[in-house]
Amino acid sequence: NLSEKLERSFKILKGQGKITELNVAETLKEVRRSLLDADVNYKIAKDFTNRVKDKALGMNVLTAVKPGQLMVKIVHDELAELMGGKNVDIDVKGNPAIVLMSGLQGSGKTTFSGKLANMLKTKRGKKPLLVACDVYRPAAIEQLRVLGEQIGVPVYTDENSKDPVGIAQAAIRQAKAEGKDVVIVDTAGRLAIDEQMMTEITAIKKAIEPNETLFVVDAMTGQDAVNTAKEFNERLDFDGVILTKLDGDTRGGAALSIRTVVNKPIKFVGTGEKMEAIDAFHPERMADRILGMGDIVSLVEKAQEQFDAEEAKKLQKKLSKNQFNFNDFLGQIQQIKKMGNIKDLASMIPGVGKALKNVDIDDDAFKSVEAIIHSMTPMEREMPDIINGSRRKRIALGSGTTVQDVNRLLKQFEESKKMMKMLSGGGKMMRHMPGMK
Ligand code: GDP
Ligand code: MG
Repeated sequence: NLSEKLERSFKILKGQGKITELNVAETLKEVRRSLLDADVNYKIAKDFTNRVKDKALGMNVLTAVKPGQLMVKIVHDELAELMGGKNVDIDVKGNPAIVLMSGLQGSGKTTFSGKLANMLKTKRGKKPLLVACDVYRPAAIEQLRVLGEQIGVPVYTDENSKDPVGIAQAAIRQAKAEGKDVVIVDTAGRLAIDEQMMTEITAIKKAIEPNETLFVVDAMTGQDAVNTAKEFNERLDFDGVILTKLDGDTRGGAALSIRTVVNKPIKFVGTGEKMEAIDAFHPERMADRILGMGDIVSLVEKAQEQFDAEEAKKLQKKLSKNQFNFNDFLGQIQQIKKMGNIKDLASMIPGVGKALKNVDIDDDAFKSVEAIIHSMTPMEREMPDIINGSRRKRIALGSGTTVQDVNRLLKQFEESKKMMKMLSGGGKMMRHMPGMK
């Protein structure tokens, strides 16, 4: 990855007190290549490396810091700066606040509308109303309705109307009447920029005067994303960018280019299909990601959010009394599943993203485990020790698995119990775990 390459190409600098034009050239070439690989626009990459060069040149290499590390830091800080430096939050003040989604078809507007509503509801105590203004495809309305149901947020629809402006205005009136404080307007996109779409979205914007007009863009579309962003911004003058499908190995370069080209903050990123797969955009972390360090901070935060502190305390008590049973085990699996797709999460760990590329881990991995546990009687779950040969056979039959599968699970259960006990042993490690106090 880039940071390793930088450090390597700077090994030669050891013993030399200064970064010079000559010994920095190779590194800068590496940086530029990596940026281009990460979908960063050519001119932006070139300007960027020039700035890094200016900063690095003549800088004294302190004996305490390896030149390579210093270089990584310069590149990192410069990247973060280029992406805006700080996170910019969404404005949801107002009665109601209005958020308008824009973007091409398939960019993730509808999914993000659901994610945002869910986040505002669960994390900020808001009462959102979702509005289906994609009047061209009945399936689009249904998609939003399903998401709304899933997250427990009402969805305003009007299947008889083909007038998105009217629908949005009616929805806002209803929100006011019902005391909803955020109205999220999902709109129709097209597969490519087209005049009708642009006219429509600008008309909606003009009519409802949103607090936030968000441009949603698929990070996987690379350079195209930048061009689309530019055109939307020229017509719509949006307030912020939502970068979706940033899960797995998606290169983060689009973030860099978009920010530079439209000069609008990226506010959130989408990291999966689930409603929980939304993160505030942090330039520092994206810089880490582009440098290949992995998005550890986001990972930890995510784990922290999902890990119920109360549950954790209870669990620790049970462990210390040796009462950890299959009900707790099931609870743990559900906790992990709540964190989102396992692959999404694991891919944020440095080095793991690549390794997992061709491996298929997802929630299905837990399916047979859950089936087995569900086929146990309450008593068996509470006291796994009583699960003898004939019980194992019955459980296997009931769960559609084999006795070997059941045996394997029982063994895994014993092992994880031991491991958790060890971890909680001195209380030391548990205290450092998220949510443990
Ligand atoms: P719209 O046409 O702009 O409304 O796009 P949709 O919200 O319907 O999303 C298009 C497809 O992308 C759907 O299959 C979504 O599940 C998927 N999608 C949306 N956001 C993400 C994301 O952050 N990660 C992944 N992996 N898929 C996403
Ligand atoms: Mg849609």
